[in-house]
Amino acid sequence: MRAVRVHEFGDPDVLLLEELPKPEPVEGEVLVRVQAAGVNPAETYVRAGAYSELPTLPYTPGADGAGVRMDTGERVYVTGSLGGTYAEYALCREEDVRPLPDGLSYAQGAALGIPYTTAYRALFQRALAVAGERVLIHGASGGVGLPTMQLALAAGLEVTGTAGSEAGRELVAAQGDVRVLDHRDPSHLEAAIEHTGGRGFDLIVEFLANANLGADLKALAPRGRVMVVGSRGPVEIDARDLMNAEGAILGMRLPNARPHEVEAARAAVDAGLNSGVLRPVVGRELPLAEAPRAHRLLMERPALGRLVLVP
Ligand code: NAP
Repeated sequence: MRAVRVHEFGDPDVLLLEELPKPEPVEGEVLVRVQAAGVNPAETYVRAGAYSELPTLPYTPGADGAGVRMDTGERVYVTGSLGGTYAEYALCREEDVRPLPDGLSYAQGAALGIPYTTAYRALFQRALAVAGERVLIHGASGGVGLPTMQLALAAGLEVTGTAGSEAGRELVAAQGDVRVLDHRDPSHLEAAIEHTGGRGFDLIVEFLANANLGADLKALAPRGRVMVVGSRGPVEIDARDLMNAEGAILGMRLPNARPHEVEAARAAVDAGLNSGVLRPVVGRELPLAEAPRAHRLLMERPALGRLVLVP
C-alpha cells in the first residue's frame, strides 16, 4: 500500500510517500481502507519534532480518517489509528472505529475524530457550558472552531465566533444565528463586549491563547471562564482582570481525557450527527502525495474547516 512516512523530524518535506506492506489485523483490531484522512495541527508539531511526546521513527502520521471497514464492508470513521491514517489502509483498535452516518461523505468523516471530541470536551466536560450562556469562540473558522460553534448552538448557547478571512467569516456565519467578528481587527474584542451590552462573556473558547489570553480576561462577564484549547507560545496576563471578574482560566488536552469521558464525547457527537445538527465542514481536499503541501497550508493559510488528504 502507499503510505506517508517520516524518517526524520523536520520541515514538511520529510513527509514521503512510500510503498509499505498492507497491515494484518489481529484480534481486537480492524483494517480500514482509507478514503480520506484528516490533518490536525498537532501532526505538524510532531513532524517538526516540537511536541511533548514523539513517536519512534519512522512513522506514518494521522489519527483521523474515514473509509471502508475491510471485514464487514461498512462505511466507517476512525478516531485513532495504531499505524497512522495518512495511508491507503489504517490499522485501528476496534473501539476507535465507528459507523459513518448516511449522508456524510468520507471527507466529512475524516473531519470528525479529534475536532469534534475536542470541541465537546472543551465546552461540556471542562468548561461546563450551559444553555443561555454567552460564548465567544475565538478562532471559529478552523477544524475545531466550527464543531465548537455547532455544538454550542445545539446546546442553546448564545454564540459569537471570530475568523481572520472573509471566507472564514462567511463559513462561521453560515453555522446559524451567530455574531461574527474579525480577530485580525485590533478592536474586535471591544465590539464583542459591546454586543453583550457591556457585560462580557460567560465563556471564551480560545484557539490562540498566546495572542489573546490577556485581552480575553478583560472580556469576561462576572465569574466567566476562558477555556484554552490552542496556544503556540507564552503570553502575559494581568491577574487583576481575573480577580475583578472572579474568573477562571481552564486548560484541556485531549489525550488527558479518561476513557469514559472520550466515550461520552463520541456518543454525544454520534447523536448530533445522526440527528443532523452536526455537519462537518471540509475546506480543502488534497491528494495523499501532497501531504507536505497540506502541512504548509494548515499553518500558513486562513482556516476553512478541516483539511483532508485523499489516497
Ligand atoms: P485550524 O483548523 O488550523 O484552525 C486554526 C484557527 O485559529 C482558525 O480558526 C484561525 O482563524 C484561528 N486563528 C488564527 N489567528 C487567530 C487569532 N489571532 N485569534 C484567534 N484565532 C485565531 O486548527 P484546529 O484544528 O482548529 O486547531 C486549533 C488549535 O487548537 C491548534 O492550535 C491546535 O493545535 C489546537 N488543538 C488543541 C487540542 C487540545 O487537545 N487541546 C485538540 C485539537 C486542536 P483564521 O484562519 O480564520 O484566521
